[in-house]
Amino acid sequence: MPLLDAATLLMVIAVVDAFACVVWLLMGHVLRIAPRAARRIAGYHGLLALAWWPMLPPALEAALVLPLTLVAAGLLTAGVRGLMRLRYGAPDVVAVVVIGLLAHAAVYPDLNHGRLVSNLFGALLALMAARDILIGAGFRRIMTLLLVLPYGVLAAGALWRSFDLLGWTPVGFGLESLTRNAPLALVRLFINLLIATGLIALVLQRMIARVRHLTRRDSLTGLLNRRAVEEGLLRLQAQVERGRDHAVLVMDIDHFKRINDELGHAGGDAALQHLSRELATGLRDTDAFGRLGGEEFAVLMPDTDLDSAVMVAERLRRLLQERPLTWGDKIWPISASFGVAAMEPADPHGQQALARADAAMYAAKARGRNRVLRSTGEVSSA
Ligand code: GH3
Ligand code: MG
Ligand code: MG
Repeated sequence: MPLLDAATLLMVIAVVDAFACVVWLLMGHVLRIAPRAARRIAGYHGLLALAWWPMLPPALEAALVLPLTLVAAGLLTAGVRGLMRLRYGAPDVVAVVVIGLLAHAAVYPDLNHGRLVSNLFGALLALMAARDILIGAGFRRIMTLLLVLPYGVLAAGALWRSFDLLGWTPVGFGLESLTRNAPLALVRLFINLLIATGLIALVLQRMIARVRHLTRRDSLTGLLNRRAVEEGLLRLQAQVERGRDHAVLVMDIDHFKRINDELGHAGGDAALQHLSRELATGLRDTDAFGRLGGEEFAVLMPDTDLDSAVMVAERLRRLLQERPLTWGDKIWPISASFGVAAMEPADPHGQQALARADAAMYAAKARGRNRVLRSTGEVSSA
């Protein structure tokens, strides 16, 4: 007997899938990582492990193996979609699986027609998964292609096998059933491993994106936090050295202590959220809006000269004035003082621009609050 016969390879595939099923169940239920997608993917691996189990009597192929494979393919496609966060629902996937199962029932117990149905619908589901990855992966091109590759091979193989079953392939080019063909089973093992590692890569990417989001965002307002604002400043400063015009705005809510005193701490928090939400509508997508701490905020405005930045600040000031906070039965007017500064070359990390905007903001406070002041160019020593 050759070292790697088809039955042994099928056994390896089944064991690998059973193992992957347990891993995904643990990820979803114990670690709470992408629980819904994890459940679908665990289902995919579990059903495949069952369907590929070489000890199953061949008589069960039409009754059990083919429908299980189809449902497994549907779970895989729905799981990929869950991981891609494109949207959680997968009604099209469910529809394809249900129609496939009905078609299978219609041709049952004819084995060849059953295989034809299973391969055609399997190819369609693999293509749907490939499309979802292409739309949503966000990896570099080479990585996306690697992720899509096994689904492409799977779809091509299933289509070829369908043509084969229809007698459309040239003599000698048909794909023998996996259960009898060791090289084919080996290819299938590789594809399954590529799919399994690709799914892990997708979930890792999701976790990295989540952690990155958490480390860059302020939890109360959802705005960028101080660290992210400083990173942004550093990036913009490098562009200023190459001749671009960027501006920084700092604002601080006026008499915020009174809001806390009158409305309570929760009311104060609501005021911070209100301001973040309302002012974000007055900014461009390219502006970076962040909370520096307490009731102090900053906006980084790329490709904006000082005059335009002052106009933006004035617009934000009016916007805030026009939209008071509603808290319970109280309507509470909120105002803020604004300082604006242009970024200049030879400013380490852009921190001087931030300090100049901050100084201008304090000058606006001193002049009676609820106003915009531009930096005079000097960092106040205070
Ligand atoms: P000014 O017009 O001079 O800026 O007066 P102010 O009362 O706004 O200034 P001050 O900086 O003295 O007070 C800020 C207050 O903001 C003090 C602090 O208790 C409150 N604060 C800081 N962070 C938070 C927060 O996350 N939530 C709430 N509710 N209050 C906060
Ligand atoms: Mg204040
Ligand atoms: Mg303050």
